[in-house]
Amino acid sequence: MMGSNDASKALHFRVGQGYDLHRLVPGEVLTIGGVVIESPVGCQAHSDGDVILHALVDAVLGACALGDIGDYFPPSDPQWEGMASVRFVEKAMALIQEAGYQINNVDCTVCLEKPKLGKHKQAIRVHLSQMLALPLHAVSVKAKTAEKFPPVGTQEAIAASVTVLLTAI
Ligand code: MG
Repeated sequence: MMGSNDASKALHFRVGQGYDLHRLVPGEVLTIGGVVIESPVGCQAHSDGDVILHALVDAVLGACALGDIGDYFPPSDPQWEGMASVRFVEKAMALIQEAGYQINNVDCTVCLEKPKLGKHKQAIRVHLSQMLALPLHAVSVKAKTAEKFPPVGTQEAIAASVTVLLTAI
């Protein structure tokens, strides 16, 4: 029987998108795209609550129709408690490699009211490009606010969406 991955190899390009949102609370660390950002509030989450990396994992898995982050790292499982999200990215990258794909480029949008991410965008971009072994021009990081509308605009949450394009190896 032909599995879904066998069938997927017929596609040279595969696009995927991911979305994530986390509650912000005082006294937690704010990690975005693997970079710790100085902030009075951080993510209340099961792992480190890195919205870019969680959205990235879903985008990468989604491109290959391999499920979602919760299928591999269920929040109900205590072994993922406080886990650095880069481990989730490594797992997703291994899975798409097995399926015969690599990332062509990544486009990320982070939505956060405060602190403003303008001065951190480049650091996040550089960090992501190193994590994914991609040239800098293949990684985009955009930042926006939510015009004071809840929950992001009222500083109760941070959200991110990520789109990736994969190409067959
Ligand atoms: Mg998440």
